[in-house]
Amino acid sequence: MSTLATSDAPLDVLAIAAHRDDVEQTCGGTLLKMAQRGRRTGILDLTQGEMGTRGTAEERAREAADAAKILRVSWRQALDIPDGRVENNFENRLKVARVIREQRPRVVILPYWEGRHPDHYTASTLGYEACFLAGLAKLDFSAVEASGLPEDLTAGRRQDSRQDAGTTRLPPHRPFKVIYATLYYDVRPTFVVDITELFETRFQALMAYKSQFSDQEAGKDLFPVQAEIRARIEAIARFYGLLGGVTYAEPFLQKEVGLVEDLTLIPVKSI
Ligand SMILES: [Zn+2]
Repeated sequence: MSTLATSDAPLDVLAIAAHRDDVEQTCGGTLLKMAQRGRRTGILDLTQGEMGTRGTAEERAREAADAAKILRVSWRQALDIPDGRVENNFENRLKVARVIREQRPRVVILPYWEGRHPDHYTASTLGYEACFLAGLAKLDFSAVEASGLPEDLTAGRRQDSRQDAGTTRLPPHRPFKVIYATLYYDVRPTFVVDITELFETRFQALMAYKSQFSDQEAGKDLFPVQAEIRARIEAIARFYGLLGGVTYAEPFLQKEVGLVEDLTLIPVKSI
């Protein structure tokens, strides 16, 4: 996968989510926007999608790599946490913390901490606590080093060499900023990112998951047809766009307050 070969430079933005295709739905346009601005972006999927009604984990791996190319992501990897059973335990926190130390992201995007799907809201607290752990100098990774390497879609060779070096020697790292992608949950975002120019490409990234989104017999009572999916995704993007005074946007929440230097430069019209 040479087009996705990575350097050893830290990631500017790492999006973490429970399932392959979550990031494409919640913050794919934002990742693409960052990549267009020259930022290095990455995606960590916690599971490999083996519980899906449609398609196999292998198909979803290929589709995830295709989607990553469309979103111009520099790095993408899937951990081996069981699909449908994402648990916030120490072993899983260590697995995510290892990735944080390897990739050294400045910004981490997590799912919002409430939601319908337990994997989604569990991924949120698991991700946050892993970011915290990754900064502890005396963290012991031996519990996960025995369990083998996660599946790597973009940087297999580099991953092998890193393992040889021993992850325990990776220096501690904590992201500067943790933000939450709120699109799966009905909560008011604290900011939105304008993806008007990127909406079509983001939609194509989602449609790269052909096993999930092409019209087919398997699971047709569970899955809406493609035209309906597009209408829903467009309606949601338009709603958040409206909140920001643009056509299409993706919603986020930060726990911290905003810091302002110049009142005349605050975006989004009040009246
Ligand atoms: Zn999901």
